[in-house]
Amino acid sequence: MKGECVCGKVTYEVAENISKLYQCHCSICQKQTGSASQTGFFCQSENFAWLSGQGLISSFKKESGYSVSFCSNCGSTVPNVFRTGDKYWVPAGAFNNLVDAKIENHIFVANKADWDEICGEATQHEGFFAVYL
Ligand SMILES: [Zn+2]
Ligand SMILES: [Zn+2]
Repeated sequence: MKGECVCGKVTYEVAENISKLYQCHCSICQKQTGSASQTGFFCQSENFAWLSGQGLISSFKKESGYSVSFCSNCGSTVPNVFRTGDKYWVPAGAFNNLVDAKIENHIFVANKADWDEICGEATQHEGFFAVYL
């Protein structure tokens, strides 16, 4: 599966079946996206490859450990290495046709915006939760 940023300069490939998405409702994701949440998934590093535009990627890291990478040309969130070092956090919206994917876990629900109404059957976790860590 190929993902890309809005301007199309940063592209990458995931050689894994993308099925289980996380939706993070934490206060930092709200500010970073300007929206209610951020949706993405974890991909093992060996199954991830940059295809183009790696030189355009900027990163920001908070002291708490939160980090985000983005295309310096268009501002889109792009994958970044998760703090465990062996996997990437990959934004789901970068892919055009994730037909088999669905949100399995909502995380940091305790911090969600008051106007954020969570729908669907996915499990809601008060704080952090990840199956593969
Ligand atoms: Zn871009
Ligand atoms: Zn978050």
